[in-house]
Amino acid sequence: MSGPIATKVAYVKAQGQTRNHHCHWPGCEKQVPPAMWGCRGHWFALPAGLRARVWAAYRPGQEVNGTPSAQYLEVARAVQEWIAAQPKKEPGHG
Ligand SMILES: [Zn+2]
Repeated sequence: MSGPIATKVAYVKAQGQTRNHHCHWPGCEKQVPPAMWGCRGHWFALPAGLRARVWAAYRPGQEVNGTPSAQYLEVARAVQEWIAAQPKKEPGHG
C-alpha cells in the first residue's frame, strides 16, 4: 500500500493511549488510542467501503486538536447509522 492513506495508517498505528478514549462502537468500553476509531474487532466489523471513507476523511492530528472536518463527521455518522441498521446479536442462542 502506498500514498496518503498508507501515511495516515502509519501515523495512527504509531499513536498511543494519550488520554481516556474508548471505541466508538455503541456499548464498547474498550480503550483505544484517540487516533483510532475503535477497537480492532469492531473496526474490522465495518464494511471495507466505510473504513476506506473513514481513512479518506481522517486528518492526522484531528484527535489532538479536536477539529475533525465536516467530511469526517459525516462519515462518522454514516458508520453509526450502519451499525444501528445491523441485526442485534441475541446472547445465549449460539
Ligand atoms: Zn469496540
